[in-house]
Amino acid sequence: MHWENLGEQSAALFGTDVVSRTVDTPEFRGITFHEVRARSIINQVPGASRMPFERTVNPYRGCSHACVYCFARKTHSYLDLDTGLGFDSQIVVKVNAPELLRRELAAPRWRGEHIAMGTNVDCYQRAEGRYQLMPGILTALRDRANPFSILTKGTLILRDLDLLRQAAAVTDVGVSVSVGFVDRELWRTVEPGTPAPERRLDVVRTLAHHGIPAGVLMAPVIPFLGDSPGQLRATVRAVAAAGATSVTPLVLHLRPGAREWFMAWLARHHPHLVRRYERMYADGAYAPKWYQRRITRQVHELADEYGIGPARAGEARRIDRPAPGPAPEHTQLALL
Ligand code: SF4
Repeated sequence: MHWENLGEQSAALFGTDVVSRTVDTPEFRGITFHEVRARSIINQVPGASRMPFERTVNPYRGCSHACVYCFARKTHSYLDLDTGLGFDSQIVVKVNAPELLRRELAAPRWRGEHIAMGTNVDCYQRAEGRYQLMPGILTALRDRANPFSILTKGTLILRDLDLLRQAAAVTDVGVSVSVGFVDRELWRTVEPGTPAPERRLDVVRTLAHHGIPAGVLMAPVIPFLGDSPGQLRATVRAVAAAGATSVTPLVLHLRPGAREWFMAWLARHHPHLVRRYERMYADGAYAPKWYQRRITRQVHELADEYGIGPARAGEARRIDRPAPGPAPEHTQLALL
């Protein structure tokens, strides 16, 4: 393991957070961790945001799941870090996240609002295996009976199954797993650092089996690569078989930061599609409304056909509040 103490220059790099050290370790070859002591951990989502939640907690920045389309890439530029490979490999770790959260939840001004996690980058990315911040975070939320939701592509969430169950016994807990498609070839190239789609669906299955019903955010649906009727059917069928309580489709969107990285990937892997993408995303980050509506209708029809819903999952529900819908750097953006 190589690590070094960083000075004021690096502290400035990460805004108000204080960098304590930078770590390269053989178990995470190619990845550098920047350990910081954050000044605060509960974020207020800007009022103008279209997110379906107001408070978030994000213990990491950057994500080694490395999804080519990840819309959180842009946020790395705020740290003066590269939004391409740098986003995948320069991971900022807020090592004091659990203690900060416990303190902020205990503050007199805190009103017990719902907290969404996995909204910027995946809180169960590989780094969590090393830093184990989520058990402390979940414990703090459980002890305060504070409602929360998690969106993830990470199978590591199953490590915390007991804590999730304990929290669900005292408050509302929502879990969504992101699975945009089950096409393995597409997965290998476009989401190279993530667990395979079927392993993510195993997470849904296991959670449901242990009384934690989970929905699937079917995101992103990737135009011309993952949107054929056969691909949509295979995905919704697999989601239903896993016992998901819901499936919410979300078409790929390409904001600045993600757009450049995705289009460069497209030019390498599917050059014949570049012109079609330029036309489809000519007006900005989003695919045309007619296309989004078509995908949504198709997926909803398939969900009806396969009987996806709480009745099918057949588990007692603690989760009255829907898990985070299209939104986070995952959903909207990252589409984690
Ligand atoms: S989409 Fe989600 S899982 Fe993928 S790189 Fe972005 S934050 Fe990580």
